[in-house]
Amino acid sequence: MVERRKVLILGGTREARELATLLSADPRFFIVTSLAGATNQPAKIAGDVRRGGFGGADGLADYLTASHIDLLVDATHPFASTISQNAARACDNANVERLAIRRPPWFPVSGDRWINVSDVSEAAGRLSEVGSRIFLTIGRQEVDAFQVCQDTWFLIRTIDLPKKPFRLSSCEILSARGPFDVDAEMRLFREHGIEGVVAKNSGGSDTYAKITAARELRLPVVLIERPPVPVGPSVPDAEAAYAHLA
Ligand code: NAP
Repeated sequence: MVERRKVLILGGTREARELATLLSADPRFFIVTSLAGATNQPAKIAGDVRRGGFGGADGLADYLTASHIDLLVDATHPFASTISQNAARACDNANVERLAIRRPPWFPVSGDRWINVSDVSEAAGRLSEVGSRIFLTIGRQEVDAFQVCQDTWFLIRTIDLPKKPFRLSSCEILSARGPFDVDAEMRLFREHGIEGVVAKNSGGSDTYAKITAARELRLPVVLIERPPVPVGPSVPDAEAAYAHLA
């Protein structure tokens, strides 16, 4: 009997779920997907699932060794840079093979009015150029960086509602999970008198509708660029990751 390869998928993304589905159907692999545990009701995932941090790169290296992991796939979100850096260090230290799924970023097309910034602080500093009614969709963790924008009203969309109130002077919060649709995004922007959008350059199709909607309505988008990633082998999507492993 051929021994199955044990694969740890660092997840929290569509690509991680798609790869878990592909590998779970292949008897050559045994799959565990790891989630940070930040989302209350994560989408269903094929195979085994564990939740919660490992305790930094050293904790992850210990887990890889203790769980006899043969290969780690870093399929985390492009902005989850701490776990990607930890994964690279842990795999080096535990001598485990690593593959990353790096979803391509969005590139501007004709009609886009993008203001590219390197982080949330720079985004907050540029908002006065954009308008006073802003659609903010950057997750929950970094929203408080916009408390410096005293004269701005925010419509904030996150998957789960915040655990404690955001420290913004004026905002409304929407809880919703993608994929989103262009017509619905345009309606949302019109209903709330949105003058500009702040988003992360996450790439992928699930959250691209807001970028199209902004283009259609000629609204500026303050787009936060991605943090650097560790060097190493990477593929653009789950199918390519499966082809690489299989
Ligand atoms: P992060 O800043 O890179 O990681 C913070 C800590 O969370 C890590 O040090 C690690 O804790 C733990 N962690 C992160 N991902 C984990 C995973 N897949 N399994 C186990 N522990 C994990 O990450 P983040 O930005 O908070 O994102 C958390 C998760 O949400 C990621 O898995 C990511 O794919 C997903 N996500 C993030 C975004 C985003 O915009 N950042 C958007 C959509 C989905 P220890 O050090 O204790 O191991």
